[in-house]
Parts: sequence; C-alpha cells; structure tokens
Amino acid sequence: MKSQDIRSKFLSFFEDKKHSIVPSAPMVLKDDPTLMFVNSGMAPFKEYFLGNAQPKNSRITDTQKCLRVSGKHNDLEEVGYDTYHHTLFEMLGNWSFGDYFKEEAIAWAWELLTEVYGIDKDILYVTVFEGSNEDNLPMDTDAYDLWKQFISEDRILKGNKKDNFWEMGDQGPCGPCSEIHVDIRSAEEKAKISGKDLVNQDHPQVVEIWNLVFMQYNRKANGSLESLPDKHIDTGMGFERLCMVLQGVQSNYDTDVFTPIIREIETITDKKYGKEEKVDVAIRVIADHVRAVAFSIADGQLPSNTGAGYVIRRILRRAVRYGFTFLDKKEPFIYRLVDVLSEKMGSAFPEMKAQKQLVENVIKEEEQSFLRTLDQGLVLLNRIVEETKGDTVSGEKAFELYDTYGFPIDLTALILNEKSLKLDEKGFNEELQKQKNRSRAASEMSTDDWTVLEEDADEEFVGYDSLEANVKITRYRKVVSKKDGEMYQLVFNLTPFYPEGGGQVGDKGYLEDTHGDVVYILDTKKENNVIIHFSKNLPNHLNESFKAVVDEKQRYRTECNHTATHLLHQALREILGTHVEQKGSAVHSKGLRFDFSHFSKLTNEELQDVENFVNARISGKLPLVEKRNIPKEEAIAEGAMSLFGEKYGDTVRAIRFGKSIELCGGTHVKNTGDIWHFKIISEGAVAAGIRRIEAITNDAVKDFYSENNKVYFEMKELLNNAQEPVKALQNLQDENANLKKQIEVLLKEKAKNIKGELKNELQDINGIQFLAKKLDLDASGIKDVSFELGQNSDNLFLLFATENDGKALLSCYISKELVASKGLNAGQVVRELGKYIQGGGGGQPFFATAGGKNPAGIDEALEKAKNYIG
Ligand code: ATP
Ligand code: MG
Repeated sequence: MKSQDIRSKFLSFFEDKKHSIVPSAPMVLKDDPTLMFVNSGMAPFKEYFLGNAQPKNSRITDTQKCLRVSGKHNDLEEVGYDTYHHTLFEMLGNWSFGDYFKEEAIAWAWELLTEVYGIDKDILYVTVFEGSNEDNLPMDTDAYDLWKQFISEDRILKGNKKDNFWEMGDQGPCGPCSEIHVDIRSAEEKAKISGKDLVNQDHPQVVEIWNLVFMQYNRKANGSLESLPDKHIDTGMGFERLCMVLQGVQSNYDTDVFTPIIREIETITDKKYGKEEKVDVAIRVIADHVRAVAFSIADGQLPSNTGAGYVIRRILRRAVRYGFTFLDKKEPFIYRLVDVLSEKMGSAFPEMKAQKQLVENVIKEEEQSFLRTLDQGLVLLNRIVEETKGDTVSGEKAFELYDTYGFPIDLTALILNEKSLKLDEKGFNEELQKQKNRSRAASEMSTDDWTVLEEDADEEFVGYDSLEANVKITRYRKVVSKKDGEMYQLVFNLTPFYPEGGGQVGDKGYLEDTHGDVVYILDTKKENNVIIHFSKNLPNHLNESFKAVVDEKQRYRTECNHTATHLLHQALREILGTHVEQKGSAVHSKGLRFDFSHFSKLTNEELQDVENFVNARISGKLPLVEKRNIPKEEAIAEGAMSLFGEKYGDTVRAIRFGKSIELCGGTHVKNTGDIWHFKIISEGAVAAGIRRIEAITNDAVKDFYSENNKVYFEMKELLNNAQEPVKALQNLQDENANLKKQIEVLLKEKAKNIKGELKNELQDINGIQFLAKKLDLDASGIKDVSFELGQNSDNLFLLFATENDGKALLSCYISKELVASKGLNAGQVVRELGKYIQGGGGGQPFFATAGGKNPAGIDEALEKAKNYIG
C-alpha cells in the first residue's frame, strides 16, 4: 500500500466514525510558553483538554506534523543511528473531547489495524498501565479487560509509569495509556526470543506504532494529580512506522516516504545506501533532517540565533556536518532535495509546494554560511593543534571552538583522531555543563497552580469595541522567573485588553477598584486560548469588581501601525508582484516591522512607490469594514489573504480597507485617515529571499520630520544661513579637498628642506652617521625623509620621533650594511625604546616603527638611542 493511501485510509476510517478531519496545525507554537514545537498530536488541542475552549465537533481526526528535538521529547541524537525515530514525523490521531472513551478507542484501533490494514494479529502486542504507588493510582483494569476481547492475554503486557502513563510536560493533562507494538522479525528470530521480552526494549523490529492515551488527570504544580472534569481520548500513531509495517520493510527509511529522498542523495553524492554503516547513518540523517528543516521554514520558522530558530539551525548543521564528513560534500547540496520532498508531500501539505523556492533559498544560504564556518573552524583547529604541547587538546579550547564558532565537537574529535591526538572530553563536557547550568539558571521559572475565584469557562474579549469594562478576576497565579522576577497572571470574566498575537503587542493599562486602588497591567498574552494579564502586584480586594482600562494612546498608535501593515502588504503585492508573502510582522506603538518574501533589494523608486501607495490610501480615508465570525471559506472567496504557519478556526475575522482584505484578529483604526502619514525608515535582508521593511506612522512621523527639521536648521546655521545649504555644503567639501591637496604639497616641500638640514646634523660616531631627533612630521613624512637620507648617505643610524594628538611615534632606520656588519636591528630598537613611550611596535631590521601613548617619554627614548652604537 502506498504511503498516501495509508494516510487517507486512516482519516476516512475515522471520518466514517463521525470524526471531522482537520488539517495539521503549524509546527511552531505561538501561544504556549511551555513548548517550542508541536511534539505530539495533542499539543494543538491542549486548550480543549484544559477546558479553555470547546471544539465544534467532539470527535476529530488528523495527521499532525510533530518535531521531537527539544524539551521533554527529544529524539535528535537517535536519528540516523536507528531506523525508526525521526526529528519530524507525522502522527496520525483520533480524538474524543469528552465524548467516547476507552471502549471505542480500543475497539476501533483494533479494527483499523487488523481489518482495514490487514495486519496479522500475531505480530501485535499491547500494553496497559500497571499502576503507580507514587501517584496512588491502580492498574488500568478497564483497558486490560477491553483488550482481552481481541487479543490473547499473553500478548497483553503490563507497563510502568515511564511507558504507560503519558504526560505532555511537567504540568498539565495526562493519563494512563495503552500502546500497540509490532514484532516484524523473521520467524527464526522469533523462535529464539519471544517478542514479549523485546517490547519497549529499543529493538529496531519490535517497535511501538500506536499509543492510545486515556486523558483523565491534570498534573498540578506540586506534582499531585487531580481528575479532569471530562475524560478524553488522545491517540497517536507514527505514520512512517505504520508504513514500514504495511510495506513489509524493516526500516522507516525503506518506505516510499523516504526512498525518493535517499535515491536523490545517492545521485547527488555518488554514494550508495546500504553498503557501509557510516555512510548509511549520514544518508539517514540528511534524509530525515531536510524534512524537519524544510517544513519548519514553510511554517514560518526561519533558522536564526535564538529560540526555535536556533533549534532549526542546529538540525540543518547536523545534516551538513554528516554530509561534509561522511559523504565528502563540501558545497551546499541539501537544498537540492527540497524538490523531491515537495513533490512527494505537496499534496498532503500544500504549504510545502507553495513555498518550495523560498525553502530552497533559505536552506542553501544556511548551508553556505555553515560551510564557511567549518572552513574557518578547520583553520582555528589547526592553530590549536600547533599550540598544543603533548598529545591531548584541551577541552576548554575545543569548547571555545564549539561555542563561539559553532564548530561541531565530534568533527573536532574526528580530526584530532586523524592527527593521532586526543581530545580532553571530560574537560569539554565540564565546560558544556557549565554553560547549560548558566542558561538553565537564566530561564528558570516556577508557575503556581491557578487559584480559582469564580468558575467561568468563557473569557469574552470586548476590546474591539471598548477600551474599558467592568471586570471580575476569575483566577490568578504567581509566576517567578529570573528575567521578570515575581509576577502575577490574572484572568478576568471579560476583558478589553488585547492579548499579544498576529504580530501586534499586548495591551497595557490598569485595574481600579471602588476604593481607588490601582494595579497596573504591564502586558497581556494568550496562553492556550486564555487571555492572561500580567501585573507586578495582586489587587487588594480580589473578589470585588474592577474598572479595567486599556492605555488608549498606546493602543491607538499600535492600531495605526497595524492598519498600515495591511496597506503595506497590499502595496508590496501590487508593486512587486504576488510572489510577495508575509513572513512575519511586529506591530507596536512606536512603529512596525514587516518581513516578506522577495528576491532582491528594493530600489529607491520601488520604496517611494510603496510609500506613495500607502499614503494614497491614507488620504483616501478608507473606512474599516470588519466581519467577525464569518466562515473561513467565505472570507477567502472575498479575496482575504491567509498566511502559512497561522492556525485558523472554522470562523474567522476579516478586516477590509478598500481592496485590502486580511484574516486578522488584531485591532485597527476606524478609518485609514486616522493614520495621518506613513514613512518607511529602513529596508534590508533578513535571510535569503526575505526582506524586511521598518516603518512609522502618525505621531512618530511628525517626530521624525521635526527631528530632521531641527538638524536641518542647525546645519543651516552652521553654514551661516546660506540660501542654498546643499550648495554651501558642497562648496565647503570642495574647499576642504583643495586645502588637503595643498597641505600635502607643502608637507612634501617641508620634508625636502628638513632633509637638507638633517643631513648637516648627522654626527659621526665610530664611523656611524648617527642622528636622534624629534621632528614635526607625520609618520609617512618621517619614513620618506629617512629613506631619502639613506639613499645619499651610508652607515646611517636614525631614530626619529614625533608627537601627534597626544600620541608618540618612534621610527628607526638603519642602513643595511650596518644591519649586516654590526648585527643591529631596527625592530629590536623600537621594541626596546618603545617602553619609554608606553607602547610597542616592530618592523624589519632596517626600518621599524613603534607607537605609544606617552609623548613625555620621547626625550628619554632619543637619549637612549646612542647606547646601540656606543
Ligand atoms: P518510542 O518509545 O518509540 O520513542 P514514544 O513512547 O516516544 O515512542 P509516543 O510519545 O507515545 O511515542 O508517540 C506516539 C507514536 O508516535 C509512537 O507510537 C510512535 O509510533 C510515534 N513516534 C514517537 N516518536 C517518534 C519519532 N521520534 N519518530 C517517528 N515516530 C515516532
Ligand atoms: Mg520516544
């Protein structure tokens, strides 16, 4: 069965059982501070499990892109070495939110695997939770009894908390689970060891394919469990592993999900898969990593130096390094795999197909820059090797190379090995640990449980219509972090505060109670669909009602910038073309930033056109036409733009100003006329094929112009209030250039005169023509004079000094024959005499200079010069 059919069979099986099929959510999470990437199928549905929102259908099925490269679930180091763990993989899932529970989940899983896919039930094992004393939980006998109907009891295994109690993180929804394992070994091997003994033992052919999680608890901050109000089903089946079983192969990499990519790697690198283990590992690493990196970029996460972007950069670098070391690829090639990838996966994941070109460009540039880093690293490593005494390279040095230059440690070890040197691994690991401790300490954070004051499922947002509201606090908690110290998070029954999202900053403002006590709201964010207000203090009268007031000025300025962002987006697509796609934006009260795909720098004319386009729509006074809660299809049909990497619900909000229509949850001005004016202040590149425009609106433009005006008048005044200041400035510059030329000529003449004088001053000491003197010349003047004297006289020893701008310069010239006959060395002379002027320098034996910061020492240095010839 082809992988595409395997995927669609899964979805249609559950569709027949009344599940709605939903598309995969983007991999990069936006409103969950505990998780960087979606690491399991349940992550995008956390709000439903927590009861913060209600799904439209309580039964859902999907295939979700998951990335396990950081945090609690991190498989990165396994990838390539085994044949069934990936960084990015698809998790097929069926979901019940407070609807069916264990009985249906188990029966359907069995039906799908054995009847629809036709898997022989004699290769299957299942596990159930054995209970835990620590958590005071009994064995999951319900699951055991349900499984008994389908599978013989010797194939039902009991598992401990590690394998059979699923937790997403340290806190949050969790529950016992039942896993389904397959044993795809040969009959001979099965005869030797029973599959039963290999379940959950990391055997590559006895692997878990599906996990059915029975979500019924919530793990609290103090580690205790509480029952969830509703019971849920969360299942996850590894798509690539399922394909391995159904296609009768022994490795995920031998399924049609991976073979086209592997064939392409073979063609590009001229290596064969399946001949040599080292090469195979490298090929698997690359085939796996290109998927993770490409899908992240398509979901809007570019490689960068921090956070999620840094994780992506490291994955790509791991792939480059394996190619570099084991496949001899010293130039970019991974980007060339994107073509096959988009062809294979483009129909299930249209975002890949649509952004192929961008993904290729970004990967290529990353590859190039990392290959340069590797080159530089090799040079640095050679230097370290040269400086190493003995046979062991210090761990500290290797760490510096790794940390500051991004040079991979295993490559260091490999190269040292080739040179018969050792690496002090212990020292390296110590440095690494120190760094980890430092960053852990910096990001350490503790979150208390919520204190609930009032039950309220639905926290309504009223901030589109008003900036003030009477609110009650429904729950609060304390969070402590190194960065912000102690903070409180407050949730209201309704709120006018806009939570950070869609690029727009969260609102600030205050809460005031009836006693006149005020608590400031410093920021507002959305977490798992709950709007959270941040304050430094807790209000005194928590149970009373409050007047909640949004900072109007900040909100208004932010709105000007947000609406201008939409107009800018429209302008760019109109002027540059429809290949322009939004790749990120930041909208706040001071200005806006807009990143978009486009392949070349904007010309000045283009920038001017864009500015004019936006300003024409501002002076056109276009009213805001807002449609809340319309079906997504309707909005798209009207021409609304949706963005890759954004998660949209079934109903959306459409924002329209004239011909600009966007799906947007942000806040906007009522009329474009409110923006007053739009001004671009910079344009540049953020990555290959991605440009960034920064711009300002409204008061900020006034400030910008008035600041410029001030500078203009100051300049004009300095130019004696010339009628035409530009011309006056030009004249000054010309005059200045002329004067410079004249000075040069004069200095040359002066040097010539000086030469004559100096020649007369030469002293004959023991046959050496000696002179030590302070001159009023610059460095090059002194050099000229010295060499000209040298042409006319033999046996010269000259030491000249000069003082300029509080700095001293010594310059020594010694005729070559003296260097040879007397072993004199100008370099040594200036180095030694340099100490009098508190400086140093060097050069050649016949001419050398030293600079220093102590002109007062010049006389002494000149005096000491005689010692060299005495
Ligand atoms: P394993 O023990 O094999 O690492 P897991 O216990 O981490 O699996 P779950 O967290 O239960 O797996 O995930 C559900 C399913 O997703 C698994 O049954 C498996 O089929 C698949 N899966 C998990 N991790 C990976 C991975 N890194 N690559 C591919 N598939 C995976
Ligand atoms: Mg795992």
